[in-house]
Amino acid sequence: MAAVGWLWCFIGVLLLNWRWGLSSSSLNFRGNTFTMALFADLHFGEAASEEWGPLQDVKSQRVMSFVLDAEKPDLVIFLGDILTANNMVCHNATNYWTQAISATLQRNISWASVFGNHDDMSFEWPVDWFGVAGIPGEDNIDHYFRGTTRAELMAHDMSFGASFSVKGSRSLWPSVSNYAMQIFSQNSTNLEEPLLILYFLDSGGGSYPELISARQISWFHEVASELNPDQRVPELAFWHIPTQGYVDIAPPPGSRIESPCVGSINLETVAPQVVELGFMELLSERRSMKAAFVGHNHGLDWCCPTKSAGMMYLCFARHTGYGGYGTWTRGARIIEQLNELDIWDKIHSGGVNGVYNV
Ligand SMILES: [Zn+2]
Repeated sequence: MAAVGWLWCFIGVLLLNWRWGLSSSSLNFRGNTFTMALFADLHFGEAASEEWGPLQDVKSQRVMSFVLDAEKPDLVIFLGDILTANNMVCHNATNYWTQAISATLQRNISWASVFGNHDDMSFEWPVDWFGVAGIPGEDNIDHYFRGTTRAELMAHDMSFGASFSVKGSRSLWPSVSNYAMQIFSQNSTNLEEPLLILYFLDSGGGSYPELISARQISWFHEVASELNPDQRVPELAFWHIPTQGYVDIAPPPGSRIESPCVGSINLETVAPQVVELGFMELLSERRSMKAAFVGHNHGLDWCCPTKSAGMMYLCFARHTGYGGYGTWTRGARIIEQLNELDIWDKIHSGGVNGVYNV
């Protein structure tokens, strides 16, 4: 009889995975802690045909290696704009994707990815190619001048055993990186209650508008209600492009970041999604939702609290890649879940920029 119960439980887990894009395997706390490193806006493959493009990818590798060796995170989260696909002449974006994950892969660290607006952007034709010199490589059949789709990139990411990324339900397309992940206590299995739940969303951009759709919002509502019905388990959410909610609480650009906000870089205006369809309202009603993290604005790294049920913090990551605009010191945002949530930045120069208890 007990065996039948376990079988039903197993089938139940499989159904959950299929229906809501849950990661099929699970991760566990190490002792009492679970540490995540956010790698945001790497922009691999930028200016691929110029001498300086590949060099900045080498520097981005150094940043990631430094952070991984210093922090030894349990999970890396690639927070979008992993690529600058609009600079890719050939249909070879998966090669750049492999480069971007390689430091994590080599260290046998698990990861989860979401898409940004540059990951499947179409190739931007340089106007000077239409001058006398013509288009370089015009007789080379390998030059397709077309991007690699989100679905192709996600299939590539998921082909690695250490990837926890999921191609979300087809009903949410064209958005792809929509899934949830449960983190369990050190010795427990994924049949028990998790200690932490992570949600990943595709905030669009590139091949379609920058937004979180009404369908994604109802998907989130369903999955969160099923996984955490009484809102006891702390939750975190990750996507790439800030929502209008970030605009509403942003400290004035250029001003000092003051309490209750934390952070060190506030040099841009928030560039939000094109429309807000109710996602932030849903998040802020959940007392279990502790923080959300986005990239996109390379010149912002603040975290500010909202007036939500759970005192949710809205946070930017720190620009990790040498690709992408801006020369602010590169690093990674580290999130450690102990009893509370600790957030800090690991800066490539080697110093910890700040430890913020959220
Ligand atoms: Zn970017």
